Amino acid sequence: MLSYQHAYHAGNFADVHKHLTLFAVVDYLLRKKSPVTYIDTHAGRGVYPLAAKESQRLQEHREGVEPLWHAKRTLNTPLLRQWCDALASLQPSPALLTHYPGSPWWLHQRLREQDALQLFELHPGEHRYLEDQVLSASATRTYGDGLAGLTQRLPVATPRLCVLIDPSYERKEEYHEVKDAVAQAMKKARHAIVMIWYPLLPAGHHHTLIEGLAASGIRNIWRSELCLRSPGDQRHGMYGSGMLVINPPWGLDERLAAAMREVVPLLGAATHYHGEWLVGE
Ligand code: SAM
Repeated sequence: MLSYQHAYHAGNFADVHKHLTLFAVVDYLLRKKSPVTYIDTHAGRGVYPLAAKESQRLQEHREGVEPLWHAKRTLNTPLLRQWCDALASLQPSPALLTHYPGSPWWLHQRLREQDALQLFELHPGEHRYLEDQVLSASATRTYGDGLAGLTQRLPVATPRLCVLIDPSYERKEEYHEVKDAVAQAMKKARHAIVMIWYPLLPAGHHHTLIEGLAASGIRNIWRSELCLRSPGDQRHGMYGSGMLVINPPWGLDERLAAAMREVVPLLGAATHYHGEWLVGE
């Protein structure tokens, strides 16, 4: 039974980390004309009004997107400025941050005629919201399991493939399931760029995923982590956000590091960011 709803967490520091990485990866893909298929295995609702009762309950956007939004005129990094401009383009009134976009929107707004976007969502209520979003005509929405859907849809018709895997990890078995699905997918699409988000929780379940992928034989895996707190701080659940990128575009690490040098001080004194290779080429 699925109970997670991303609306409670929309625009938090993990979304900033995840969607900046996604934005930067898509930016590289857009440098070439050849078509791309994007697969978003865990899509969520698509767009989140920050005044909704779910977002207001924890107000996690206050230590995520909001400080960045307020600083947007002073930001120097082109990646961050472009990201904030895209965010502004979603707002009904561009000067006010009232909506935070999920991964389907971040992907759809950069789709070209030759590209395709396949979205999966398994929660019936979340899928209904997703169905209501106005998205590009080349976006398809499937009510179903995104990990099974990913392996079923491979290989894709386009020369390039980019996958985002962003589970809610409500069950700890999901760390294993993600690793298995990725290992299978990489056999069918060796050149795919695959992004996998994971939470950093005191229980440390993410090690199952990371160590499993490191031992899977897949090469060229880069990881980055953005932490708001130290792992020992038991007052909160998630202390950090992690992203694995398989086959990252050349230069992604430095571009994100530059953006994060501006993001980190905005998110609080204990915040830190780190990127490294998990497995080299
Ligand atoms: N990717 C979204 C974003 O960046 O805006 C957020 C996704 S949220 C963290 C995870 C979503 O995955 C939830 O909406 C949940 O209902 C959905 N979900 C959980 N298990 C799933 C599965 N096996 N296949 C597809 N969706 C699933």
